[in-house]
Amino acid sequence: MSDNQRRLVLATHNSGKRREFLALLPNLGAELVLPDDLGLHADVPETGDTYAANARLKAQALAEASGLVALGDDSGIEVECLGGAPGLYSARYAGHGASDADRRRKLLHEVRQFPRPWLARFVCVICVAVPQAGGGLSLTEFEGECRGEISPVARGSNGFGYDPIFWLPDRGATMAELPEDVKNTLSHRGRAVQAAESYLRALMAGK
Ligand code: IMP
Repeated sequence: MSDNQRRLVLATHNSGKRREFLALLPNLGAELVLPDDLGLHADVPETGDTYAANARLKAQALAEASGLVALGDDSGIEVECLGGAPGLYSARYAGHGASDADRRRKLLHEVRQFPRPWLARFVCVICVAVPQAGGGLSLTEFEGECRGEISPVARGSNGFGYDPIFWLPDRGATMAELPEDVKNTLSHRGRAVQAAESYLRALMAGK
């Protein structure tokens, strides 16, 4: 096995997601590297029509550019009374240049015309792209979800994105009120990584 197979590059440019992935992927027997470390950009246009397609696009682009095993992801929040919106468009929900706070405000404005509870889920798909000896890539996907509700009041300062308005009834807290290690055990991203863990471990061990 070459040293390159023991390096895993994370195809994500969102600093909140990146921090969580770094905490979620310890002890894999792999060196985690970021696109910046390689002088590469992870900013691949999300032109797919599913989370899996976007995760594939990101993982493929970075594996091809680096020659390393690459992990790409795509995620979003789906609100039942909005027919699953913003979903794939979660990052672009309030238009170009908008902030996380703008997106949360827009979501709260949209759900207010519906009765509560405003059921919602976070979804994350990760794709692992592995360069093959004879050329080409093998692509494997894993998915995780986390169910909750939209809270009418933003609470908490941990996490990022929609976390302050994502209410977890079992915990009596928003996602942004949970410490990061707790979020990582139950989040959509944490669950997708849990689903991928034995695959990644075997891959990094050369099995
Ligand atoms: P993307 O996966 O980079 O396309 O981002 C999806 C959008 O969903 C971004 O606006 C994120 O802020 C939001 N999002 C994804 N994961 C989370 C999370 O764990 N908490 C809060 N917002 C998230």
